Amino acid sequence: MTTRSPETDLGRTRRARRIGRELTATHPDAHCELDHSNALELAVATILSAQCTDKKVNEVTPKLFARYRSAADYAGADRTELEELIRPTGFYRNKTSSLINLGRQLCERYDGEVPGKLADLVTLPGIGRKTANVILGNAFDVPGITVDTHFQRLVQRWGLTTETDPVKIEHAIGALYPKRDWTMLSHRIIFHGRRVCHARKPACGACTLARLCPAYGTGPTEPAAAAKLLKGPRARDLAAAVGIDPDLVPPQAAVADVP
Ligand code: SF4
Repeated sequence: MTTRSPETDLGRTRRARRIGRELTATHPDAHCELDHSNALELAVATILSAQCTDKKVNEVTPKLFARYRSAADYAGADRTELEELIRPTGFYRNKTSSLINLGRQLCERYDGEVPGKLADLVTLPGIGRKTANVILGNAFDVPGITVDTHFQRLVQRWGLTTETDPVKIEHAIGALYPKRDWTMLSHRIIFHGRRVCHARKPACGACTLARLCPAYGTGPTEPAAAAKLLKGPRARDLAAAVGIDPDLVPPQAAVADVP
């Protein structure tokens, strides 16, 4: 019987980079899934996305953004009206308070503009480190790693870190990749978590990372069973990428809600 020696730091970095390259090929459509056209809209959308799917947030925001265009609009919002608009995203009373307070603080401290620095962003109502990194990466082109539940699960499955604290995960993974790649890497990892490597029943048998992943086998490895677990508009392409007949992907996979 042969025993495998533990992976060296260099080995882990190389495998991490390979995973990164594979994800780039697997998810060419990766992007921030919260619709927005400026930093304020993205800040608002990320606050609404707490405990809610991005899809639901995107259903609510067109009307919201048309009605509230500036920080001053949120600062002076009629609470009942704002609550009604965002109610479908859940926890709407807390979220309404966050949005009104966000508007006030932006007006009082930043001339109504969303600041482009992490240290400033995390002092704003409803904006934690994860949200701040989303805003920096997508509205200011400042590289940021977004450690959400998908990101955390996947990097642990890949054995890239044993950390469990999000800030420590952010630093550990940041050290494995060039800074300029951080934002897109985050999108790709989250895409993979939503479409392939689900929390329960990951689609291991239909995963482009199978050879690089120590957790291969956590979900079904048989192609037909794994293909049924793929999700999103590119589910058939994801199957084809690993040599599985795309017809094994059920039609509803393309329109399935990704968590
Ligand atoms: S092989 Fe399985 S556990 Fe590993 S990344 Fe792919 S789906 Fe996730």
